Amino acid sequence: MQYSQLCEVYEDLEKNPSRLKKTEILSNLLKTLKHEKNKEIIYLIQGKVFPDYCEKEFGISEQLCIKALLKSSGISKDKIVSEWRKIGDLGLVAEHITKNKKQNTLFSHKLITDKVLKNLKTLPELQGKGTVDKKLSLISELLTSASPIEAKYIIRTLLNDLRIGTGPGTIRDSIIDTCFKYKNIKQKKEFIDLIQAAYDRSNDFALIFEKACKGIKSIKSINLTPGHPLKAMLALKAESIKDGFKKVGKPAAFEYKYDGFRMMINKDEQGNIKIFTRRLDDVTNQFPDVVQYVKQHIKAKSFIIDSEAVGFNKKTKKYTPFQGVSQRIKRKHNIQELVKKLPIEVNAFDILYLNGKELTNEPFEKRTKILRKIIINKRYHLKTAHQIITNNEKQAQEFYKQALKDNQEGVMIKNLKDKYQPGARVGHMLKLKPAENELDLVITGGEYGKGKRAGALASFVLSCKDNKTDKFLEIGKASGLKEKEELGLSFIELTKKIKPLITKEHGRKVDIKPKIVVTIRYQNIQRSPTYKSGFALRFPRIIQLRPDRKADDVATLKEINEDYERHELKIRY
Ligand code: AMP
Repeated sequence: MQYSQLCEVYEDLEKNPSRLKKTEILSNLLKTLKHEKNKEIIYLIQGKVFPDYCEKEFGISEQLCIKALLKSSGISKDKIVSEWRKIGDLGLVAEHITKNKKQNTLFSHKLITDKVLKNLKTLPELQGKGTVDKKLSLISELLTSASPIEAKYIIRTLLNDLRIGTGPGTIRDSIIDTCFKYKNIKQKKEFIDLIQAAYDRSNDFALIFEKACKGIKSIKSINLTPGHPLKAMLALKAESIKDGFKKVGKPAAFEYKYDGFRMMINKDEQGNIKIFTRRLDDVTNQFPDVVQYVKQHIKAKSFIIDSEAVGFNKKTKKYTPFQGVSQRIKRKHNIQELVKKLPIEVNAFDILYLNGKELTNEPFEKRTKILRKIIINKRYHLKTAHQIITNNEKQAQEFYKQALKDNQEGVMIKNLKDKYQPGARVGHMLKLKPAENELDLVITGGEYGKGKRAGALASFVLSCKDNKTDKFLEIGKASGLKEKEELGLSFIELTKKIKPLITKEHGRKVDIKPKIVVTIRYQNIQRSPTYKSGFALRFPRIIQLRPDRKADDVATLKEINEDYERHELKIRY
């Protein structure tokens, strides 16, 4: 396929904000791709060249894009930079200068998508001496034969900022419209569930499209594979023990809600161990201690086990809050030093796959029994989550109190009969904790401070996610960070993380790519016309960074609405 054809689709998608229209545009494209062998063009629609589970990044800065533009167009750096300052979007700058470039006659108009995929896929593989030059020549090669609109989207893809507003929901619906026929909403819903389940297992739209082209049976054959990341099942809230029982039935399982981070532990048939976070990042190298514990304390050939890793103080052996161990997730160097300094205990709470067999459709009571059979508990290394199964409210209340005394966040309440639904925030498990005025939100904007804080961002715009359109909507501004490091997070540090993500500056205000997830605590939620979400948080305060979570995981408008209604009703628990 010609890359120009794909770029026309990008343009159409960018121009049409309606999700229905976007689905139609994409389905038309997918129809033409149905018989193409390489379905990876679907990654390009996502602004990527790899499936969603893959962490590889282009590692291309704006500065490198400018160099490549300079090389391919012959236009001076000053001119490119001044245009960029004016327009704020390097993609548009690329389009303009390609239109006016000196070697106007040189466009060959023969850029094909396979070539774009090939060059872009090579970028993350480059390492060592000469990497920058090699990257530069791969990009310039594409830009030299690109038409103006092609140059625009090459640059935007490289900068992870395609701006066509097409989320996973739209891609899923387009695949359905392309590959299946349905008569009514109910039938369509069945296809949505089918494709969504396949996506949650594989995190790979090219694979799903390929299978969907072959039919329903083929889609159903997408199975769990140890070593391949999958989305974790998420929890809903319970308002009290009583409410928990009401929602999941009696008896129910109660487990400590450990204040750590999720770890999906995989061992494949060949004995390879891999650990993924909730963001599907492969963190195996960061956790050699856990790999060791898995070898010693889990007795099975192959498995996928869901767990929470929690930090503890080496001397007092008391559990510590998430913030303490969060550094371990991102650390690439001196790992052993951190293993000693910040030890963790793994608390396994579910099993999805064992010795070649998928267990997700088995009821929780069976899965938890299987899990407890194959794990040899060892405190401060790896063990099963502390659990009781009861129908007695008083006993459950005591257990909840004990969890809080043991420095944990609260309890999880689990339905004994339910299956494990990857990726879904369903009522199969509930969380109950006392500090309910907390939300995970994503930073989408900021404002530089004045005086002493002039170089640093002093306030941060927080956004939730609209579950219907996948857009991020503003809901408040947090500025309560202290200048000095507070919980490992200072203005300066946060500014450092945010600066590369700035997409636009207007005066002291900046727009920020939605990447950094934070947990905030707030006093109250009000309805408000000030923010696009229609709500405003009163006194939101950032309490921690969540490097283990993706922007897609932040609180949805639906959840905010529920929190708002709960506040309105003044239910305290
Ligand atoms: P939240 O992050 O507030 O939505 O709470 C749900 C999270 O609690 C899960 O994603 C897990 O990371 C964590 N968690 C801690 N202990 C457990 C447990 N025993 N069962 C399930 N999830 C747990």
